[in-house]
Amino acid sequence: MSTFQPGLEYALSLDQNDILAAYRNQFHIPKDAAGNDLIYLTGNSLGLQPKTTKAYINQELEDWANLGVEGHTEAKNPWLHYHEFLTKSMAKIVGAKPIEVVVMNTLTANLHFMMVSFYKPTAKRYKILIEADAFPSDKYAVESQLRHHGYDDKEGLILWKPSKENELASYNDLEHILNTQGHEIALVMIGGVNYYTGQFFDLKRIATLAHKQGCMVGFDCAHGAGNVHLNLHDSGADFAVWCTYKYLNSGPGSLAGCFVHERHAHNPALNRFTGWWSHNKDTRFNMRDEFDVLPGAEGWQLSNPPILSMAAIKASLDIFNNAGMDALVNKSRQLTAYFEYLIEQLNNKNIKIITPKNPDERGCQLSIQVKNANKSLFQKLTAAGVISDWREPDVIRCAPVPLYNSFKDVYLMVEKLKSVLND
Ligand SMILES: *Cc1c(COP(=O)(O)O)cnc(C)c1O
Repeated sequence: MSTFQPGLEYALSLDQNDILAAYRNQFHIPKDAAGNDLIYLTGNSLGLQPKTTKAYINQELEDWANLGVEGHTEAKNPWLHYHEFLTKSMAKIVGAKPIEVVVMNTLTANLHFMMVSFYKPTAKRYKILIEADAFPSDKYAVESQLRHHGYDDKEGLILWKPSKENELASYNDLEHILNTQGHEIALVMIGGVNYYTGQFFDLKRIATLAHKQGCMVGFDCAHGAGNVHLNLHDSGADFAVWCTYKYLNSGPGSLAGCFVHERHAHNPALNRFTGWWSHNKDTRFNMRDEFDVLPGAEGWQLSNPPILSMAAIKASLDIFNNAGMDALVNKSRQLTAYFEYLIEQLNNKNIKIITPKNPDERGCQLSIQVKNANKSLFQKLTAAGVISDWREPDVIRCAPVPLYNSFKDVYLMVEKLKSVLND
């Protein structure tokens, strides 16, 4: 793939040949004070707003204004069923069957609700394994689950640490942990794409190794959903969770996704926290029936959901449906490989990309370590119009997103990095 060339003209020619180039115009691109597009490389933190989002939300505001409570059944998109309008598209994005997917709650909340069902500690098997550099919220969540069940959160937590040579986690290490301590581990909970290094784990390999030792398996796919082919069903994971405000462009704090593998879909005996939205739709409003749980992931819902947030999700998923994950992943691989090529062209001994080189082991994000740098480097980049993300002590995370980032964006980013480094 590394047949790239230097120079702006080459970047522009890549944009010209990009079959997804027109999608950029479907998004609001933040601008600097002079009105120029900023180079927005933080779609891994908060995705940009589709221009259609406002109309989708306005539709629900209008139906609410005109119909009041009747909107539950009479709105153009009846609110009672709104989450169902999202299921098919979301299932396609994460590689799942519709019965395995539901949009509900927020991410860390879903993680807890999944652990209510899939973290079932016993005296002999109560530990939780996570990756050492897990996203803080995930680490706090699993620690609090350990404490909730009466275990020590240090003793009960096993960390899958990166190998000494680099920042990446190795499957041999994981296998060793599982072979030696697997009988004590109740749950393996890994971030599908690591938020810090950008390493995309082989979900099926992890799930197979963990299941062999009798552990339950869950993935937090916040950095994977809409970014890589997750193939959740085939991975065999018991559950997965993800948010919709990163690569899925559904707005700050928007609702989250949840996957429960089909093999658990028809097991009402599986313990869970419930509410009226987990109850059989046909008898939900009789209000006095014995509890009758819905099959599939829907059976984990609690509340009637915030429709305005779901409307923003629908606006975004409709764009994903049009573009298609295959085309997005194809462009993403080219865009990120080009980014990598340009950074390597800088020939700067202080710069090291800690994200895996293998395109199968990463999504669009590159994590760029700049030795001897401090936050002022990042601040200068920001002043130069590059919106990226700084992680102490010395890592800049950049995510060129195939829906709205261009090859020109990537080219300009590296040009600005070069001039800031030479400052
Ligand atoms: C973004 C992210 C979160 C954030 O959790 P919220 O509950 O949405 O605030 C948690 N975990 C991971 C892995 C993330 O990437």
